[in-house]
Amino acid sequence: FYYPLPSNEPVLNFAPGSAERELVKNALKELKSKKLDVPMYIGAEEVRTGNKIDINPPHEINHVLGSFHFGDASHVKKAINAALKAKDKWNNTSWENRANIFLKAAELLATKYRPYILATTMLGQSKNVYQAEIDGACELIDFLRFNVHFLSDIYKQQPSSSPGVYNRMEYRPLEGFVLAITPFNFTAIGGNLPTSAAMCGNTVVWKCAHTQVYSAQMFMRILKEAGLPGGVINLIYVDGPTLGEVCFNHPDFGGIHFTGSTGVFNSMWQIIGENTKIYKSYPRIVGETGGKDFVLAHKSAEVDVVVTALCRGAFEYQGQKCSAASRAYIPSNLAAQIKKKLVAEIKTMKIGSVEDFTCFINAVIDEKSFDKLEGYIKQVKKDKDAKILVGGKCDKTNGYFIEPTVIEVTDPRYVTMCEELFGPVLTLYVYDENKFDEAIKLVDSTSPYALTGSVIAQDRYAVELATKKLANSAGNFYINDKPTGAVVGQQPFGGARGSGTNDKAGSILNLYRWLSARTIKETF
Ligand code: GLU
Repeated sequence: FYYPLPSNEPVLNFAPGSAERELVKNALKELKSKKLDVPMYIGAEEVRTGNKIDINPPHEINHVLGSFHFGDASHVKKAINAALKAKDKWNNTSWENRANIFLKAAELLATKYRPYILATTMLGQSKNVYQAEIDGACELIDFLRFNVHFLSDIYKQQPSSSPGVYNRMEYRPLEGFVLAITPFNFTAIGGNLPTSAAMCGNTVVWKCAHTQVYSAQMFMRILKEAGLPGGVINLIYVDGPTLGEVCFNHPDFGGIHFTGSTGVFNSMWQIIGENTKIYKSYPRIVGETGGKDFVLAHKSAEVDVVVTALCRGAFEYQGQKCSAASRAYIPSNLAAQIKKKLVAEIKTMKIGSVEDFTCFINAVIDEKSFDKLEGYIKQVKKDKDAKILVGGKCDKTNGYFIEPTVIEVTDPRYVTMCEELFGPVLTLYVYDENKFDEAIKLVDSTSPYALTGSVIAQDRYAVELATKKLANSAGNFYINDKPTGAVVGQQPFGGARGSGTNDKAGSILNLYRWLSARTIKETF
């Protein structure tokens, strides 16, 4: 069974009066009128603990969408056992039958359940319809289809044989179970981390962020409808330390597929490192972590290209993308024009509920994030070497709303130029237009991360210089574009340094990590 290179799922535009807009509006209405009771999915069972946590839209915190059943260590153990029990049968299921389940899930997402995966993403994660579409629909569908294609390609690759000898590679899954830990910010990442490992014949314990449960359970139900057998992916809701305690002390721990903070990734790596003796094999550790992504404009840049890259790169989905532009280096010759246009553009950004399709900005994910961002903004208001050019208002009366905010600093190492804020806050630093080299050095040395970045210039020499000198500063490097919005199969995504293991989601490289091949030589 070989699945050829698919094309990307077309992005719908939800124009006023369009059928797709009506379908999403109806799904939003339907979901808002219900109170969903969300179980964990362990083995073939739906597990309800009675220890329930409410699900609220971040932009409408007094509305209850339902609640999910929170688990403890016993549920982690149960999920591991279910994964281990399902392993043999799943691994021995033909590639064609395994792949068909994920292709079927992609079709269900593209058609029957598209309005629902969008509506759960919109309500649960406060993501507007356009951002939900490129995430919960297109990117997730693409991950499923492209990964089936990539694996088809891997399975085909075989060593050479010689007269009297037949060599082959058997692409086995990892021994034990795989742990997937997924963040709130992309429904597609929630779907990709467990399914990419499962496709390879692994069975998975999937722990999603509390703030992602609403869309994750939707995807889990779609996988089941597509025919995924119980136990292949076990979705649980538990706290991080409990999860780590059970999984990392288990001899069958085979690997982790993680997206989240650098701090959590570091501490997990340390625990895993200390425990290597108890595992059957060295676990695979794959993680995409933080970012402090840059936009570097050259004196030859087109002002409109810079302004668009900043507006979209920094503020789409309230800047809550690991790839979001959060520090900008602006040449002195263009500074006045860029600032003026940027401020004017930001003032037109409407803030509010996802149910109003004209809102560009919705809420940040939760109170913790809101408080952290407000803390930084308050600090800026006090500091002499930083000033707010636009935005800065924070209001959590009805939802966690933070205005899109631009800070200008005189010190290129000011705290908001260096630390990951994960919100709608962009910091600008104006550099001497004749010192592009120095600006490049600053970009490279200011943050420990290396996820994404953009250079904007019309001068080809400047483009080449930045591309060469910033080789280690971003795993996804963009020229004359925003640093967000990588498309599966087109811009494989990931970075090194403090941004993770750079195993490129949406590419063949990622799939290799979930395989542990056996070489078989047979002589005749
Ligand atoms: N792949 C997304 C992008 O290119 C970002 C993923 C993330 O936030 O982890 O914008």
